Amino acid sequence: MTRLVILGKQGAGKGTQCALLVKHYGIPHISTGDMLRAAVAEGTDLGLQAKEVMEAGELVSDDLILGIVRERLAQPDAQLGFLLDGFPRTDVQARELTAMLAPEAIDVAIDIEVPDNVVTERMSARGRTDDTPEAIQRRLEIYQTETVPLLEFFSSQGILISVDGLGTEDEVQDRIVAATERNR
Ligand code: ADP
Repeated sequence: MTRLVILGKQGAGKGTQCALLVKHYGIPHISTGDMLRAAVAEGTDLGLQAKEVMEAGELVSDDLILGIVRERLAQPDAQLGFLLDGFPRTDVQARELTAMLAPEAIDVAIDIEVPDNVVTERMSARGRTDDTPEAIQRRLEIYQTETVPLLEFFSSQGILISVDGLGTEDEVQDRIVAATERNR
């Protein structure tokens, strides 16, 4: 059983590291951003509600997000562990996640640290429709105000590991796996 949360700014390399981690641990990758983009592409009610908010770089409401995460975590493949990516992103989401999983808990929350100037450069090269300079800037601000406080939340539970996100994909992966094994 491996239950991981991955944190880090947009462009910190979460996508790449998640792909490697789910392979390493044999757990499903649960990305709220991917689920929302799929809903937008399919034109579901959820997608219609989320589209404009996402394009502006703002956060989708906690209620909507908690609904999709609750449903996803109830699926059979998530019973043996999972990697949460892009969630939790707010204090409410973190507290609700803890309540959802009780009496069990997250094993490790991984924070991939990369400076703002590096992520901004990486993002501009990515070309997603919500990667306009304004939306990138807005997401970095929201990360600072909404998500950085979660580092303290996980740290107080003794499950936060911070990993230097600079270097090759393999180097970062090795740091993450080594730190995860030491801490769980
Ligand atoms: P990035 O890592 O590039 O910021 P994601 O792919 O994780 O982006 O998410 C894209 C967008 O989807 C976010 O900017 C936000 O609008 C929405 N979103 C994803 N996850 C959440 C969440 N947990 N809470 C609120 N909004 C979310």
